[in-house]
Amino acid sequence: MEMDCIFCQIVAGELSGEIIYQDEEVIAFRDINPQAPIHLLIIPKRHIPSLIHLSEAEAQLMGHMVNIANQLAKREGISESGYRLVVNCGKEGGQVVPHLHLHLLGGRKLSDTLG
Ligand code: AMP
Repeated sequence: MEMDCIFCQIVAGELSGEIIYQDEEVIAFRDINPQAPIHLLIIPKRHIPSLIHLSEAEAQLMGHMVNIANQLAKREGISESGYRLVVNCGKEGGQVVPHLHLHLLGGRKLSDTLG
């Protein structure tokens, strides 16, 4: 755990947040500033700063996070209408919180363009 990482603090239960899923490896909670009616964040419990820091051995973790996102999309009722998974990596990739996270966005028609 990184003491000054807000997502590590959520994992540790030190910051209030609506945790909607957790297992040994990941937790998911609602984004505090939602960009769509459904906006969830799926994060590893372990502090991994960003996608670029994911080792080959940890690739399975990303697969697990995508699998959880798919399950949560079903639970939130957006698996049929559609949704978007986004990972921002680094400053120019739009990453603000330096703890790997997957955005799950849906519940409205999202923009056809990225960027
Ligand atoms: P990114 O720009 O990809 O780093 O996204 C970081 C996301 O974390 C943003 O969408 C923020 O709204 C969200 N966020 C920041 N702090 C919190 C928090 N305490 N609880 C839930 N979401 C948060």
